[in-house]
Amino acid sequence: MADFSFADFQAAVSDCLIRHRSVLDVITKFQEASARVNRAVAKSVTVCGCMEINASKQRLPEPADDMSLSDLKQLMSTHIAGELCADCKDALETEVGRCLYYLVALCSVAGINFDEVMTREWERLHMLGLFNMN
Ligand SMILES: [Zn+2]
Repeated sequence: MADFSFADFQAAVSDCLIRHRSVLDVITKFQEASARVNRAVAKSVTVCGCMEINASKQRLPEPADDMSLSDLKQLMSTHIAGELCADCKDALETEVGRCLYYLVALCSVAGINFDEVMTREWERLHMLGLFNMN
């Protein structure tokens, strides 16, 4: 991984924000980037076929079943069969990167320190652990 911090990334993104500096441009570009992430996943299924989505209702164990949260995690399905081929993985990584770019751009124009957001989220994850069931 490249040697940079979230603060470095945010500073670089902020420096690049010239043409799309308006918050309206940033939030709509973020929404577009987010949709392109979903499109990349869909195309891996419907165009390439390297992945399949086999979705059904998640079957939770009965409350009487003595099961740990980590056991429960093993039971819950991603609904994905197969795995991304190199091309689809590259496409999805590109779209995730663009999405991250505009998310950080939103932080910049709104005066939010992305590093602080990540630090707070990191601490919340460690504090809640498996109880963070979003
Ligand atoms: Zn593929």
